[in-house]
Amino acid sequence: MSKIFFTPGPSQLYPTVKTHVRRALDEDIASISHRSKDFETIYRDAVAGLRELLAIPSDFEIFFAGSATEWMERIIENCVRRHSFHFVNGAFSKRFFEIAQELKKESVRFEVPAGQGFAVADVTIPDSAELICFTQNETSTGMMIPMEDIYSIKKRYPDALVVMDIVSSVPCPEIDFSRIDAAFFSVQKGFGLPAGMGVLILNQKCLKKAEQLQGEGMNVGSYHNFLSILRYHQKHQTPETPNVLGIYLLGRVCADMLKTGIQNIRRQTEEKARLIYDYVALHPELSLFVSDPRVRSQTVIAVNAVRPDILKQKLTDGGYIVGSGYGELRKSQIRIANFPAHGVDEVKKMLELMKI
Ligand SMILES: *Cc1c(COP(=O)(O)O)cnc(C)c1O
Repeated sequence: MSKIFFTPGPSQLYPTVKTHVRRALDEDIASISHRSKDFETIYRDAVAGLRELLAIPSDFEIFFAGSATEWMERIIENCVRRHSFHFVNGAFSKRFFEIAQELKKESVRFEVPAGQGFAVADVTIPDSAELICFTQNETSTGMMIPMEDIYSIKKRYPDALVVMDIVSSVPCPEIDFSRIDAAFFSVQKGFGLPAGMGVLILNQKCLKKAEQLQGEGMNVGSYHNFLSILRYHQKHQTPETPNVLGIYLLGRVCADMLKTGIQNIRRQTEEKARLIYDYVALHPELSLFVSDPRVRSQTVIAVNAVRPDILKQKLTDGGYIVGSGYGELRKSQIRIANFPAHGVDEVKKMLELMKI
């Protein structure tokens, strides 16, 4: 029986991925040199596809690395002399904060309990903060931060760089890149691709900061410091031998998503989220973890369940794999991903199986 993964990452592959992998093997993508013209074409294709799909302005660069977690580390190294500020409300935002601490920065966090939103207007950020970090969609709890809240912080603190982790929401939210400085994600969630690649979208201010820090003799990392990546990026290459297959597949899936139309993808995401939320609200054994609808994620839905293990098993037996609650929450929750790879009919069938 074929399975459908509603897990919040890795997740269901985008439906066209199998065909693209076969073609990539036929075309020897995994054997070509990363210094060849053929590779440069693949690289440009992925960058151009992402730029069009996410409406990324021309003064932002798009870099590739190994994972989203890698980007957390690189961003701290390249954009923070001493002070970063972190909005924390779950495991991934906490990880970003801890990486800054591990890199010996003087980092400050503003933390709210899991599943709650931030009243950003009430948060005061020290003027010393050079970088403000948001996890726009906190995958561990199904809570999201409305873009307007993030833009409002950038407006109040224009001198700080503002970065968002968009790993489990991209490509669904519409982002006005002119109102932030950087965003990053990995590809195994919303893009429905095999894991092993992270993407960073950053403006010239971030690059300038890296240059400044390097000029001051600070350690901004080695091969993957922003300036080293930029030098190769300008030749449509990477410093190291990259995940060529991953870059190829990203370009192909961006083209597929552009064909479907990003507005259609966004509309379908909202429609599927509504189906799931409405269903959970009426189910006798289920309830929504995030009580404030304003901060409820459209793409990762955290559900309190009376008997999460039995529910998960029943779904698995029917071919539908959903996620556990994160960490301690596995005893009381399931999490359901709602990514572009998930069709409306599959969502309906999955919900049908949840009936008791
Ligand atoms: C999954 C996830 C990450 C980590 O991604 P990796 O590809 O494992 O580095 C970071 N942030 C969020 C919000 C995530 O959901």
